[in-house]
Amino acid sequence: MGRLLRSLLARNNATLKNMSVRVRFAPSPTGPQHLGGVRTALYNYLFAKKNKGVFILRIEDTDQNRYVPGAEQYIIDALHWCGLDFEEGPGINGAYAPYRQSERKAMYRKYADQLIESGNAYYAFDTPQEIEAMRERLKTKENPAPQYDHVTRSAMKNSLTLSKEGTERLVAEGKYVLRAKMPGVGDITFQDLIREEVSFPAHALDDKVLFKSDGMPTYHLANVVDDYLMKITHVIRGEEWLSSTPLHVLLYKFFGWENVMPQFAHLPLILRPDGNGKLSKRDGDRLGFPVFPLNWKSPDTGEESKGFRERGFLPDAFVNMLALLGWNPGTEQEIFSMDELIAAFSIERIGKSGSKFDFEKAKWFNQQYLHKKSAQELAALLQPVLKQNGIERENAFVEQVCDKLRDRVTFVEDFLTAGIYFFKRPESYDEKTIAKRWNPESKTVFEKLMSELAALQDFSSAAVDKFVHDFVAENNLGLGDVLPVFRVLLSGVTQGPAVFDIAALLGKEETMERMKLGVEKLG
Ligand code: GLU
Repeated sequence: MGRLLRSLLARNNATLKNMSVRVRFAPSPTGPQHLGGVRTALYNYLFAKKNKGVFILRIEDTDQNRYVPGAEQYIIDALHWCGLDFEEGPGINGAYAPYRQSERKAMYRKYADQLIESGNAYYAFDTPQEIEAMRERLKTKENPAPQYDHVTRSAMKNSLTLSKEGTERLVAEGKYVLRAKMPGVGDITFQDLIREEVSFPAHALDDKVLFKSDGMPTYHLANVVDDYLMKITHVIRGEEWLSSTPLHVLLYKFFGWENVMPQFAHLPLILRPDGNGKLSKRDGDRLGFPVFPLNWKSPDTGEESKGFRERGFLPDAFVNMLALLGWNPGTEQEIFSMDELIAAFSIERIGKSGSKFDFEKAKWFNQQYLHKKSAQELAALLQPVLKQNGIERENAFVEQVCDKLRDRVTFVEDFLTAGIYFFKRPESYDEKTIAKRWNPESKTVFEKLMSELAALQDFSSAAVDKFVHDFVAENNLGLGDVLPVFRVLLSGVTQGPAVFDIAALLGKEETMERMKLGVEKLG
């Protein structure tokens, strides 16, 4: 860590002690939240909790063209599933309500006017075709896509080039946008809690649209005004917003709010498993893993995308996995409860470079969490899966099944796939075992075994175990003559917990019935 970053963080930590931290997760409802979005929410949440601050949800829905019905509810459901409860946000009457920017529309005009008055924004009247024509006209080899900026604006139709009267007439017609008047020279520099000092040369920045004549601000204006009005102290967001930050920093300056400007922390990207670029939905589809927290069905195309929840992930395992995708505790510890994450979290330990998403590691977390759960908790998770598959069993039995199979599962559904024989009689028997172990004498052996087993009173695992061993010894058999077939008759398969455990769990009656059916079938 560089000296500058160290001093920046030290200063931040000192001020944190005396300040009431307020952070926001500010998604735009343009579709389902991707893994990266949920991680941004998580880091904001952890930072707020760690510093006894407030975690806010603000919906940035000023771009009506990109609004997707259902996306806001999806975001709220995803946060809820992850246990990231916001203290202020839509549906909560917090001190800074409303928390949906479309409902705050009337607040922004005043700030837009202020920028016009101070000369930091100007009216522009160019049609998309005129902007396109400018691009064509001014493009060169070095600059193939000229922007609307400090150079080109002098050749465009705006309040800087038109007369006062001309401008007033066009404004009165009501078709305009407001653009930021970017300085064009020098560097715009700011401090980032993850990236230290960040500098952008001003000549490369365009005059972004801040406000439209329909009274709607764009993302940039609304975002800065709301962070100011909502007294946000730290902006923790994805790296993709880093290039917007110089404009935001300038807006704070234009408004004279520099002394309350939040601290910025831009989170590194989540990368594809091979490290080649940003993880996208397409990678998930291609490699067969979800990139969204919950299932999502596109209202436009009807296309369905799988979520981690529906794929069988436990929310605490998902959150734990996500926390370590960009942050590290500085120790070997990997399993963290939410409270432990809150206690351990710090911006200092967020890396600068992207983190590769590893689905196998995500599965490992889920397995660890399943393993830690009590049989009661596991049964509560498995019962709905059983019901969906038309299986009704009493809880005591399901708990025992869970207990026996807990070492063999990664997902709750695996209890059913790995242990289907606990709920249904086998329909076929492992062919290899039968080919190798079922011989002309087997039928006689098993009929004898069944008739003696019928007399056994105690059908506990230990009792059946002893009984079978005695039987093998008394009849001069090998264990291999009995055990593999015994297992396959009960379960159909060769893998599973101890066969005596299976027999005891199935109970005497069912065990006998399965043996009888099997012996008949194998003949
Ligand atoms: N609305 C932006 C988004 O969709 C928010 C960026 C920010 O946090 O400033 O991610």
